[in-house]
Amino acid sequence: EIEQALKHNRVVLHYQPQYAIETQRVIGVEALVRLQGTDGKLIPPNQFIELAEDTGLIVPLGRRVLEEACRQLARWRRAGSGPLRMAVNVSPRQLFEADFVEVVDQAVADAGIEHADLELEITERQVVEHLAGVEQTLRALSARGVRIAIDDFGTGYSSLAYLMQLSVHTVKIDRAFMAEIPEEPRAERIVTAIIAMAKALGMTLTAEGIETPAQQQFLLDAGCQFGQGFGFARPQEAEAIMHYL
Ligand code: C2E
Ligand code: MG
Ligand code: MG
Repeated sequence: EIEQALKHNRVVLHYQPQYAIETQRVIGVEALVRLQGTDGKLIPPNQFIELAEDTGLIVPLGRRVLEEACRQLARWRRAGSGPLRMAVNVSPRQLFEADFVEVVDQAVADAGIEHADLELEITERQVVEHLAGVEQTLRALSARGVRIAIDDFGTGYSSLAYLMQLSVHTVKIDRAFMAEIPEEPRAERIVTAIIAMAKALGMTLTAEGIETPAQQQFLLDAGCQFGQGFGFARPQEAEAIMHYL
């Protein structure tokens, strides 16, 4: 299905808005890949990303996602969206490719956007596992102005101080914590601590999985700047996103 989708242009991107919690304004979107199956139904990423990583198909698939996401950002810009950032998930397998930085340069140049418009997300777990292999590439991207985000942060046993050395700009707090707020005081304390530490290190914070007004209020009080979640907007087609811009 992955090969077929690549061949027949059935790689579909949905976009989920990221917003400033205080002002409720959209500041960017995250591109989330789906495959359109032969029956026309969309297959969610948790059913194929791991397989794509194991087979190496994540390299062409991830490239397709990156290129289309950059082009879509340019389309929204032309339509008058104003400043807007594009976040794209990348797998270590992509970062290991010798030409990954050039692939990014090309995608940015072809779409006519800037490196600084792009934020690449890599999960904390994968950064920890593949640190030695990805460090140099992350630095090279960062030097070009690309922002680096650590996805699903808080469950992978890394330290923010260490991530700072990798020139990480954004920490995305894992949505597992949000699911326990406000019932679980322990989750609230951990999130409060992550926010304080990330801020002290000069990093930007995005909370994932915000579904309720109570969670949003907690984050506002705790000083978390940015958020993403079903409570604000679900991932959706590019055309539907224009409404939020
Ligand atoms: P992620 O990068 O952490 O993306 C956020 C996921 O959380 C998305 O699921 C999104 O729909 C979901 N989500 C957002 N807000 C809420 C909420 O309020 N509540 C709940 N319950 N869920 C929420 P999705 O689209 O199924 O993506 C799942 C994962 O697949 C992503 O997690 C990411 O790790 C991976 N993925 C998606 N697209 C790509 C891609 O292009 N490349 C790679 N390497 N991985 C991707
Ligand atoms: Mg992500
Ligand atoms: Mg995440």
